[in-house]
Amino acid sequence: MKKVKQIAAVALAAVLAMGALSGCSKYKTLEDIQKEGTIVMYTNAEFAPFEYMGDGNQVSGVDVDIANEIAKDLGVKLQIENVAFDTIIGAIQSGKGDFGAAGMTVTAEREKQVDFSVKYVKSRQYIVQKADSNLNTLDDLKGKKIGVQLGTTGDLIIDDNLKAAADREGTEENGVLFESGATLKQYGSAPIAAADIATGKLDCVVVDELPAKSIAEKNEGYKAVEMTYADGSTTEEEYAFCVAKGNKTLLDAINKTMQRLMDEGKIDEYVLNHTTK
Ligand code: GLN
Repeated sequence: MKKVKQIAAVALAAVLAMGALSGCSKYKTLEDIQKEGTIVMYTNAEFAPFEYMGDGNQVSGVDVDIANEIAKDLGVKLQIENVAFDTIIGAIQSGKGDFGAAGMTVTAEREKQVDFSVKYVKSRQYIVQKADSNLNTLDDLKGKKIGVQLGTTGDLIIDDNLKAAADREGTEENGVLFESGATLKQYGSAPIAAADIATGKLDCVVVDELPAKSIAEKNEGYKAVEMTYADGSTTEEEYAFCVAKGNKTLLDAINKTMQRLMDEGKIDEYVLNHTTK
C-alpha cells in the first residue's frame, strides 16, 4: 500500500512538473494563430503617435499600422487589447497575447522576460514642462517633482538616479538626484501625469521624444525638451515588438514584415501620418 502511494506521489509530481514546464510555453505558434485566424496584440493606447485612441474610439497609431501589415501578411485578423503598460510583458509571457507592441524599448531586463523583434524606431527621453521652465538636463531635475508613466524607461532612469550607490546596479556612484529633494510620482499614462504640471503638482514629466512632443502640442503653455546628461551626452533607446520567449516561428514572421516595412520606408511614413494628426 505504501509503495502504491509512493508511485502515485511520483506520478503526481511528474504531472505537475510537466504542467509547470508547459506553463512556460503556453504561447500560440504561428501555425496555431493561422489556424485560429486571429492574432492578438497587447498595447497601451496612451502613447501617441505610436498608439492612441483615434477616430471612432479605435486604437490607432504607428504600431497599429505595423501590426495590421503583420496580420495581412499572415492572412489573419488583428485583435487589439488596450491594457496598462506595465502588464503587457506578463500578458505575452502567459500567452494571453501573441505579441506586445507599445513603443516598447528593448532593455536587458526585458530581454530576460520576452524575445524582441528587429528594432524599428530610435528614441530619447524628453522633459515635458511649462514653457517658462528651464529643465534641460538630468541634473536640472534636482529637487523637482517628477512624473512618469509606471514601468517605462523614463520611470527606470529617474528611479535609478534617486538611489544611493549601494542600491544601484552597475555603478559605484550615487544617482544624480539622490538626496536632492527630487520626488518621483508614477502614473498610468504620461498624458494624465502631464495634467499635473498645470496645477503645480508636478514640475515635469519624463517620457519618450514623440509622445512628449505630442503632449506639449496638445497642452497650451507646455514645451518638450530633450533630457541630456550634464556632460551633454544623450539617452538613447530603440523600440521593438515582443513575443513569448522561444516563440521563434511568430518572431520570424514579425521580423519579415517589419524588415519589409523598414526597407520600403513605410515606418517613417506612418510616423509622419500619425504625428501631423
Ligand atoms: N519606450 C518606453 C518604454 O519602453 C515607453 C513606452 C510606453 O510608455 N508605451 O518603457
